[in-house]
Amino acid sequence: MDRPRSHALFTEALNFIPGGVNSPVRAFRAVGGEPFFAQRAEGSHIYDVDGNDYIDYVCTWGPSIIGHAHTAVVHAVQEAATRGTSFGIPNSFEVDIAKKIAEWVPSVEKIRMTNSGTESTMTAVRLARGFTGRDKIIKFAGCYHGHVDSLLVKAGSGALTLGQPDSAGVPAALAALTLTLPFNDLDAVDAALNANKGEVACVILEPLPANAGLIPPMPGYLEALRDLCTQHDTLLIFDEVMTGFRLGKAGAQGLFGVTPDLSTFGKVIGGGLPVGAIGGRRDIMDHLAPLGPVYQAGTLSGNPLAMAAGLAQLNILEKENVFDKLEKLGGQLELAVRPSLAKHKIEATFYRYGSMFCLFFTKGPVRTLDDAMTSDRNRFKRFFHYLLDHGVYIAPSQFETGFISAAHTTEDIAQTARVMDAALAEIK
Ligand SMILES: *Cc1c(COP(=O)(O)O)cnc(C)c1O
Repeated sequence: MDRPRSHALFTEALNFIPGGVNSPVRAFRAVGGEPFFAQRAEGSHIYDVDGNDYIDYVCTWGPSIIGHAHTAVVHAVQEAATRGTSFGIPNSFEVDIAKKIAEWVPSVEKIRMTNSGTESTMTAVRLARGFTGRDKIIKFAGCYHGHVDSLLVKAGSGALTLGQPDSAGVPAALAALTLTLPFNDLDAVDAALNANKGEVACVILEPLPANAGLIPPMPGYLEALRDLCTQHDTLLIFDEVMTGFRLGKAGAQGLFGVTPDLSTFGKVIGGGLPVGAIGGRRDIMDHLAPLGPVYQAGTLSGNPLAMAAGLAQLNILEKENVFDKLEKLGGQLELAVRPSLAKHKIEATFYRYGSMFCLFFTKGPVRTLDDAMTSDRNRFKRFFHYLLDHGVYIAPSQFETGFISAAHTTEDIAQTARVMDAALAEIK
């Protein structure tokens, strides 16, 4: 598959943009080669500037859950834009989306909108510190919470993919307040909370880690974390930027039945526009300015275009029974991939929750970041490029999750399964 126009654009981009990209994983560094440049995307497909057509399983890293350029979302944005792109004073969409999220996610009594997932986790940590009067936080190796200083310690996603889980530029004094523990290890959490009694403001995690591949929480793990946090008056924060409104109306907390004190959101709630949010217990949320002493703000927060897009997308999720459809499509893919792996005798572990999936090239089970790191990244590279050259686009890293949208058809999935089967034959 030729991509001369993408190549020309990338060559020029390299002169003016660090690495040629505005977010590092897009640079394809983990898989080699160069990124394609998008021309447009519609439904389940994305088209590059050279006219190549890909079935898209990146879905803009999660947000496009009902497919690209859905008419309801496009119309909502167009309609909102004709009335002004930003006001800097409240608009009615903000009330509508806050109400809807509080309705769908029982742990959310109040919610504040931001412009990205990163802003929401940054605020969550500050709020937890301000509320508890404690400085230390606990996070887990391989969980990614955006590019927040305190959270870029043993982080996942691009930080992991590019071999920089601990970022330069984060003061050691700040990083020292972040205790990083292995995921799925309760004893480690118990020990850390006891060794730092009265000092840990929060435990923050992705309840279903999806930025180091996809790592299932062991049965009872999330429940036990909840209990430990309650015992130690430590806030439990679920970072649902990825899983929120993707795994169901109440996200991972709904799926696993565990109630956090605070949750962070992003991706799906913005309908493809820049949005994040933090929500949770009323008494904690009321510590935010202007009611409380914890400062947080945003010139563009609650932006009418972003709120309109998010609301339109959430309305479709509700009206069209999208989660049932996603489960069916995910099931179809799983039913095709598992026999392919067996047939080609490839050492691999396939995990799927609804429309989220991950194929690790390692025997498994994958329970921790260390397990994920045993994956054969060279094999992944070959798998990725075979898929891309045959019109199937998955994230350019072993340590990411695939996403299916409601716009994917059973034929898209069948075609993907055929390409994956051929790819597995090629790389074994
Ligand atoms: C993507 C992501 C973030 C960061 O969100 P941005 O909008 O990229 O800042 C935070 N947490 C999780 C779990 C994510 O997947």
